[in-house]
Amino acid sequence: MAIRRELFAGEVLYRQGEPSDCAWLVERGTIELVSVQGRREISHGVLGQGELIGELGMLDGAPRSATAIARGDTVLLAIEHDQFLERLESGDPIVRTLVDSLLQRTRSIIASLPADVALPAEDVSCDDPVERSGIEKIRMETQLREALDTGALEVRYQPLYDIPAGRVSSYEALVRWELPERGAVSPGEFIKLAEETSLIVPVGEYVLDRVIAVLVGLRDAGVEPLPSIAVNLSARQLVEPGMARQIVARVQRAQLPKGALKLEVTESRMLDYGPVHAVMQHCRENGIPFALDDFGTGYSNLTHLYKLDFEFIKVDQAFARHMFETPRAMALVESIVAMAHALGAQVITEGVETLEQLQRLREMGVRYAQGYLVGQAQPAEKVLSGEAARVGEAAARG
Ligand code: C2E
Ligand code: CA
Ligand code: CA
Repeated sequence: MAIRRELFAGEVLYRQGEPSDCAWLVERGTIELVSVQGRREISHGVLGQGELIGELGMLDGAPRSATAIARGDTVLLAIEHDQFLERLESGDPIVRTLVDSLLQRTRSIIASLPADVALPAEDVSCDDPVERSGIEKIRMETQLREALDTGALEVRYQPLYDIPAGRVSSYEALVRWELPERGAVSPGEFIKLAEETSLIVPVGEYVLDRVIAVLVGLRDAGVEPLPSIAVNLSARQLVEPGMARQIVARVQRAQLPKGALKLEVTESRMLDYGPVHAVMQHCRENGIPFALDDFGTGYSNLTHLYKLDFEFIKVDQAFARHMFETPRAMALVESIVAMAHALGAQVITEGVETLEQLQRLREMGVRYAQGYLVGQAQPAEKVLSGEAARVGEAAARG
C-alpha cells in the first residue's frame, strides 16, 4: 500500500461502504466527507492539514461511513492498522477498555439517529497540544515507514581505534535520518519511536543489509584483514522470534568471515535472560560476537554480566567525559575496566575526545577507543575508500 497519496481536486480517497483498511493524516490540502442518506447527499465537513480521517473505522473495522473527496490538491499519509493497534494492545488495559466503550457508544448513537440527520464526521480536529503531539508522532512514524520504503535512511560508520595495534580495526554502524522540513532527526528520537512498535524490526533489517553490503564491498575490493562492523540491536529486536536465525542466515549468504559482523545490545530492563542467552549462543556459534552497550548508565545491572557472557563491554561515554574530574571518577573507570577484564571481556571506551583520555585508557589496558578523537560517523564511501581509517589513525596517534 502506498504510504503517501496525492489527490487532485475532486478525486475520491475512499467511498462510503468500502472496507476501512487504514486511516489518513492530511499533510496538505483539504478533504470533504459526504454521505448519501436516502436521496440526500450530506456534508460532514471539511478536514485540513494535521487532521485525521477514517481512524474510527480503522479501529472497529466498520465500513467507511462517508465518502472522502479532495477539495483541492491534497497530500495524505496512510496510517496502518498496526500503528494504532500495537499501541492499544501494549497500553494500559483501562485505556483499552475506555477506547472500546467509546467506540461502541459512538457507533450505537450513530445507528440510532434518524436516516436524514447529518452524521457527525467520524474524525477529530486537533487544537489541543497533547493531541497535536500525538499527531506529530503518528506523522513521524509514517514518514519513517516511507523513509524505509524509499531507502532514505543513511547508515554512517564511526571508527574504533585498536589501542595496542595502533590502528582503526572496526566500525560502529549508526543510522541517520534527514527530513526535508526538519533537518536531521537524531536516532535517539526516532529509534525510540520505532521501538514503541514493531517498526524497529524493519529498521534493524535495513541497517543490517547496508552493513553486510559494505562488508561484502570491502571483501570484494581485497581488503585484508576485513574490519568488523558492529550493528546496534534494540532489546525488542533481540527477542523477535526467528531474529537470530535470520541474522545468521544473512551473514552466511554473504559468506562473511567470523567476527566481521558484531552486535551491540544496550542494557535494558527488557533483557530477558533465557531467550537472550539462546539468541547470543546461536549467533556466537556462527561467529557473531556481542557487545554490551552503554555499560555503567541506564539500567546498569550486574546480573547482565553474571548471566550473559559478552565478548565486549562498551563503557558509556559519561565515564570518559568525567574521568579526570575527581579521583573517584577515575577509580570507577579503573574498576569497571578491571571487572570487564576479569570476566574475559574486551573493553571499548566510548566518547574518547582527547589524547589525554586515550593515554590514560592505554595505561589501563583498554583495547578499543571510540569517539570524536578517532573520528565521527562517516558515510560508507569513506570507509570503502579507506579514508575513515587513515583519518582516525592520524588523530589517535596525535
Ligand atoms: P550508541 O550506540 O551509544 O552510539 C554512540 C553515540 O554517541 C552516537 O550517537 C555517536 O555519534 C555518539 N558519539 C560517538 N563518539 C562521541 C564522542 O566522542 N562524544 C560525544 N559527545 N558523542 C559521541 P548517535 O549516532 O546520535 O546515536 C544515538 C543512539 O541511537 C545510539 O547510541 C544507539 O543507541 C541508537 N542507534 C543508532 N543507530 C542505531 C541502529 O541502527 N539501531 C538501533 N537499534 N539503535 C541505533
Ligand atoms: Ca552502540
Ligand atoms: Ca553506546
